[in-house]
Amino acid sequence: MTNGHLAALLRAAAARLREAGVEEPRREARLLLALATGSPAAALHATDTLAPATAERFRHLVRRRVAREPMAYLRGRAGFWDLELTVGPGVLVPRPETETLVEAALAAFPDPTAGLTILDLGTGSGCLALTLLRLYPNARAVAVDVAAAAIACCADNAARLGLGGRVELVRGDWVDTPLDRFDLIVSNPPYVADRELEALQPEVRDHEPHLALLGGPDGLDAYRALLPVAARRLASAGRIILELGAGQADAVTGLLDAHGLVRDALRPDLAGTPRALSARRAAAASTLHPIAC
Ligand code: GLN
Repeated sequence: MTNGHLAALLRAAAARLREAGVEEPRREARLLLALATGSPAAALHATDTLAPATAERFRHLVRRRVAREPMAYLRGRAGFWDLELTVGPGVLVPRPETETLVEAALAAFPDPTAGLTILDLGTGSGCLALTLLRLYPNARAVAVDVAAAAIACCADNAARLGLGGRVELVRGDWVDTPLDRFDLIVSNPPYVADRELEALQPEVRDHEPHLALLGGPDGLDAYRALLPVAARRLASAGRIILELGAGQADAVTGLLDAHGLVRDALRPDLAGTPRALSARRAAAASTLHPIAC
């Protein structure tokens, strides 16, 4: 195998990525090359050559990306809010729309010194729980996930961010949540309707954990399962903040009543899709003025 000039390697990689349907093949080829060499993309010169081991690393990364593995898995990292989180296969890649839940939490609890107790149901990488612990330095969190890969990933992120002392990790179903009362319960549950799986991007459909994506025939199964648990664990003036799939706001709002909950805010993501539903106890709602939706 010859050491290719970078320009030729990049051209060949970009062509393969384009053929595989990757949207920005030239940019991604450069990113993969930067990953293979360990240097920033801007520092790469088109005339440089690669050592054989580096060239092989590059080809391996290109093969994985041609198979449409998410870039975040290749990097082993994903950005969320102001954090760089470790992610990998078996763990949902944090998405920008999930940051809408953080905004909703900040709106509901404006005092950053509050000693909140936080519950994150289906924590995945820990993106919500750990971001909230950073924003509320006096808060403590319980993060629950059924997937061993997620618990390991969240533990790794918590330790790296120096937050391990304030988060308790629980591997199990929603019902395994400790019997405490929480001021803030957040969840980005699986909400994609089973029949919509095929239409998802290959990165999501073929590589991300279906356990974190699929919510049954109408996408609402996880809400049905977690709301009874969340309602019982919610402190009297607490908030439940749930991520929604597009078009699910009315259906999920409709599920609240049976658990003594009422919607108090609905926040759109940056694309304008209603994304973060905030709910509280119906009894508390009558003594507080309602927040416009
Ligand atoms: N927003 C994700 C997607 O559409 C789904 C994540 C989830 O189900 N919570 O790929």
